[in-house]
Amino acid sequence: MSKALADLIKISNITGKDTTLVQGGGGNTSVKTADGKYMYIKASGTALKDMSKKNGWRRMRLDAVLSVIRDKKLAKLDAGTREPEVVDRLLLACDDDVKTGARPSVESHLHAFLDKYVIHLHPVAIGAYVNAKNGKAELEKLFKKEKFPPLWVPYTNPGFMLAKKIANLVDDYQNRFGKKPAIMILGKHGLFVTATTAEAALRLVRKVIKLCSSKLKEPKVRKTKPPANRDITAAKSGIGKAVFDATGQHLPVSYFGRRAPIAAFMARKDAAKLLATRALNPDELVYANGPAMWLDRYDAKTITAKLNSLVGKGQKPSAAFLVKGLGLFVAAETKSAPVIAEITTGSLMIRSWATKFGGVLALNNGEQDFINNWEAEAFRKKLVSSKKGKS
Ligand SMILES: [Zn+2]
Repeated sequence: MSKALADLIKISNITGKDTTLVQGGGGNTSVKTADGKYMYIKASGTALKDMSKKNGWRRMRLDAVLSVIRDKKLAKLDAGTREPEVVDRLLLACDDDVKTGARPSVESHLHAFLDKYVIHLHPVAIGAYVNAKNGKAELEKLFKKEKFPPLWVPYTNPGFMLAKKIANLVDDYQNRFGKKPAIMILGKHGLFVTATTAEAALRLVRKVIKLCSSKLKEPKVRKTKPPANRDITAAKSGIGKAVFDATGQHLPVSYFGRRAPIAAFMARKDAAKLLATRALNPDELVYANGPAMWLDRYDAKTITAKLNSLVGKGQKPSAAFLVKGLGLFVAAETKSAPVIAEITTGSLMIRSWATKFGGVLALNNGEQDFINNWEAEAFRKKLVSSKKGKS
């Protein structure tokens, strides 16, 4: 196995197993080869902790990846035409023996122009800042002693335009500081670190998380009596029936309890208000259909009305439900339910912390529409290609 691949697996597994860094499998990593020709990068669909010699990565030709960002014609296309084209070109840039058809991370082009080792994560300790109204100013205070401060990247629609924006901002940074940024913090998104060795990259991640966590208090919870099983069963059945009535889908409802971050959030007086925003980031929108729905009551009629009202406003029907006193419930296929629970729990922590930094900053309407359209486009493409496959 090449040294670059061995290093990639190492940094992926170390960060992926750390639950303070990764929620719901989000994030990606890459390592460039010593000759500068290739980049090993995490593949979509495998969690960082599960990457192995056999699984979860692709090797890409660096020049082919860079040519995607430099392509001026792509920048002129509308997103619906451009993004599937970019995904295809990134797949064509793969040069390895992987036969599974796994796609390289959709953030591949963004890794290409950074240093040799790149770690990208969506940690809650970063979310507390990038999803808060005064988060950028708070970060500047935290890093004010640094000679080379982190590069702040305002929220940009994911895909090609984000890669392009970061390429420009990295150039500006290099002109100003004489080197590329080692830390990048992306609004309503997450953290990128880049370094010339694996150890330095891991050290940077720990340093940033430690600094950001220093201003965040872990939630304290008073012990209360555990909820009665019959209440949990009644809530499950109310949610299941409401989801069916509002969407026509029969989905299993799983109960995820009320561990500390959930219990602390439920004890807040502003809990309902904190959830009455759009999704915090693309992950919460794509995987959890937006924020958890706050429920004081759990009869099917009340929940159906709330779900219908969301759909009427052009939002997706929630997949996660926070029932006062009981805890977190998820209506989804059994395989995806734990991922939704993890993303939702992280999001509850971020929403609480963001109140200390000026309040929650979620996706706006246009940002949400872009992600929804992108998803719809990807789904349509999948249908078309599966039909083609049959004929
Ligand atoms: Zn990301």
